Amino acid sequence: MAFSKLGINEPILSAVAAEGYTIPTQIQAEAIGPILAGKDMMGCAQTGTGKTAAFALPILQRLLEHPLPKKKQSDRHVRPIRVLILSPTRELANQIGESIKVYRGESGLEYAVIYGGVRQKPQTTALHHGVDIVVATPGRLIDLMNQGHVDLHSLEVFVLDEADRMLDMGFIDDIWKILSYVPEKRQSLLFSATMPDKIRSLANAILHDPVEVHIAPEMPAADTIEQRLYFVEWAEKTALLRDMLATEEVTRALIFTRTKRQADMVTGGLKQAGVKVDVIHSDRRQKDRQRALENFRSGKVPILVASDIAARGLDVDDISHVINYELPQEPEVYIHRIGRTGRAGQRGVSASFCSFGEHLMLEEIEKILGYKIPIIEDHPYASVLAPKPKEETAPRKITGVTRNRRPGRKRKF
Ligand code: AMP
Repeated sequence: MAFSKLGINEPILSAVAAEGYTIPTQIQAEAIGPILAGKDMMGCAQTGTGKTAAFALPILQRLLEHPLPKKKQSDRHVRPIRVLILSPTRELANQIGESIKVYRGESGLEYAVIYGGVRQKPQTTALHHGVDIVVATPGRLIDLMNQGHVDLHSLEVFVLDEADRMLDMGFIDDIWKILSYVPEKRQSLLFSATMPDKIRSLANAILHDPVEVHIAPEMPAADTIEQRLYFVEWAEKTALLRDMLATEEVTRALIFTRTKRQADMVTGGLKQAGVKVDVIHSDRRQKDRQRALENFRSGKVPILVASDIAARGLDVDDISHVINYELPQEPEVYIHRIGRTGRAGQRGVSASFCSFGEHLMLEEIEKILGYKIPIIEDHPYASVLAPKPKEETAPRKITGVTRNRRPGRKRKF
C-alpha cells in the first residue's frame, strides 16, 4: 500500500517521500481515507504509531483541495484559522508543529504553535499575520482567546490529541470552553492511547458518527530491546544508577521517574556525582526544557531524567538505555517508555529498578507483557526483598553486569 493509493496527492506526497516514508503505518492506512472523506474519527493509538501523519496529511490535503473563496479571504484581511489541534503538553505541541512544517512542504499553508511558559508576543504576532492551522495546549489558547487574539468562528477541523492525558491533566473544562467557540458543523478527530469510559463519553459528545480505528500498542521488539530487572532497596537506587551509568555501554540514557520531585532528586544526586545530566518536567521553564532536549539530542548532555508527562511524544534516536528508576503506575506506560530505545533495528537496553512497594506494578507490567522480565541478580545492591522466581515460571535469564566484572567498559561523562 502506498500513500498515493490512500488518496494522498501532490504536493503532500512529495513532502512525505522527502521524509523517507514509503509505506504507511497501520494507523495511516486506516485513518487517511476516512479523514480525507471528511469523516469524524475516534482513534485509539499511541505516540510512535505514526499517528501525527495519520491526521496531519489528510487535513493538509483537504485544506489545499478546498481553498477558501477569494472573497472570504479578502474580507477578513487575514486568513482565518481552519484547523485546531489541541495537545496536552508543550513538547507534543512542538512535535506536531514540526511535523506539520515538514508535511506542508512548499504548499504555502501557515501554522502556529501556542503554549504557555514562553512570551506570548511571537504567538500573537503569528496569529494576527494569519495562520491556517493552530496547534495549542489548552491553557494558553484560552488566555489568548480571552484577550481577543484567537478567532475560531471559521474552524473546519478540530483535533483532540492524547485525549486521555488531557483528562488526566484536568483539561476537561478547558476543552469544553474551547469547543463552545467552535462551529457545530466541523470535522472532529479524537485520539487517545487508552479508551476508558470517560473518553468514550467525551467522544460521544463531540464526535458525529465517527469511524473508529484501534491500533494495538506497539509491543517492545524483544529482539532489539534487552529488558533487565533489578530488585534494589529504595535508598540504593541512586547508587545502582550511578554505577550503571559509569560501567555500561551507555551512550545516551533516558531515566524515568513517576514524579517531578523525584526527577529533580535523581538529577541532583547524579550531578553531585559529577554526571552530565539534565532534567525535563512540566515545572521547568519552557526555555530550559527545550535546551535540555536539544543537548540530549546532540549528545552534549547524554543523560536525561524525565517525568512521564514531559517525556510523552519525545522522539530522540539512538537512545542506548532507558532506565526505569521507578516503575510506572500504568503498565502501558512501561511499554511506551522502553520503546524509546531499540529503534530502527538498533539494539537497546531497558533497566528497571524495582523496590519494596513496586512489586504490584511489576506484576501488572508482566501481565500485559505476557512474560517475566529477566532479573539481574548479581549486582552490588541486590535487595533482600527480591521475590524468588516461582518454580512453575520459566527460568529467568540471569546475566550480570557489575562494575567489578567489566572494568574495561568504564565510561566517564
Ligand atoms: P508519531 O506516532 O506521529 O509520533 O510518529 C512516530 C515516528 O514515526 C515519527 O518520528 C515519524 O516521523 C515517523 N513516521 C510516521 N509515519 C511514518 C511512515 N509512514 N514511515 C516511516 N516513519 C514514519
